[in-house]
Amino acid sequence: MNNLGIYIHVPFCNGKCYYCDFTSGLYSDDVKREYFIALSKEISAFDFNGYIVDSIYFGGGTPTSVNETYVSEIISLIKSLSNLSKCCEISIECNPESFTRAKAIVYKNSGINRLSFGLQSANDEILKKIGRLHRANDFVNSVKIANDYFDNISADIMLGLPAQTKKDVLDTITLLNDTEVKHISAYGLKIEKGTPLEKSGFVVDEDYTADLYDCAVKLLSQYGYKRYEVSNFAKPDFECKHNIKYWSREEYVGFGVSAHSFYNEKRKANTPNIFEYINGQTTISEEIIKNNSMESLEEYLFLGLRTSKGINLKTLKEVYGYDLLKEKNNEILNLRDFIEIEDNRIFLKDRGFYVMNELIVRLMP
Ligand code: SF4
Repeated sequence: MNNLGIYIHVPFCNGKCYYCDFTSGLYSDDVKREYFIALSKEISAFDFNGYIVDSIYFGGGTPTSVNETYVSEIISLIKSLSNLSKCCEISIECNPESFTRAKAIVYKNSGINRLSFGLQSANDEILKKIGRLHRANDFVNSVKIANDYFDNISADIMLGLPAQTKKDVLDTITLLNDTEVKHISAYGLKIEKGTPLEKSGFVVDEDYTADLYDCAVKLLSQYGYKRYEVSNFAKPDFECKHNIKYWSREEYVGFGVSAHSFYNEKRKANTPNIFEYINGQTTISEEIIKNNSMESLEEYLFLGLRTSKGINLKTLKEVYGYDLLKEKNNEILNLRDFIEIEDNRIFLKDRGFYVMNELIVRLMP
């Protein structure tokens, strides 16, 4: 039996943030109902034989913007169709403005054991500038409720936001530590084409954002959040199992609009068009990616070296056919200030994370 992760995309939000180009938007209750019917059909058509499901992740969009029974029914459906691991991690992304105690209770009863809040910043002026609907206090109130039912709470923050200072970033991280959040993802803002932020002419100051990241990493470490991927930090034992699958090229299936899958050496993408999806036209592309292909090898290196565990040299040789120690012997010696080899794994030292992309290119075949 192979382990399998499941991703469920919920493409509904109560507003549109000024930087966002995800497949998400405001739709009527009828569209939401039809979407969940289509989602159930897609899940029911999947052959779960031979798999143990060890993670389920509801992402979006804003999963908390829909009636909680839609979410609990999808979990019941998956349980009825698959072998669920006893320690299955079931996560849901939550936005503070639409999170309620009633939702927390239904989520808990349906088996959800991890919540991931989109905070982005604890500064209300910045939240206004990027079109978020919540304010810092909404987040604090939501986490107070969430702490009554869940241990495993995560929050996303962003770096490089308009008018964001080092103090804002440090205050945000301190708030997360004070509210007992166990996991933090810190992503750099990217300006996407066609978004209101792009149209406003705002440009991210990359150097300043690197400084913000540097400050964030130091404070996170002081509070006991360990970096386990370049943008992800966790208190001991609170790493996100589902996301680790993506970085280690383990198998997952994505259901819903815009969802991606990777299993049986197959990569599959669903349509980004919600109405096509509701009409049953789910898949828009499918390709076979053999493990021994150059593409798989590059992906394994690129994703694995982003994590603090790095990559297993034996797997690299036996599965992907690349003997890194032999092929890049001189390069490894030259880079010894930035990379470490231990227990048959190669991984970046702390200072290696600052020049990660260059290091990865130099270690590629
Ligand atoms: S809540 Fe998330 S998915 Fe929805 S618009 Fe904002 S950033 Fe995009």
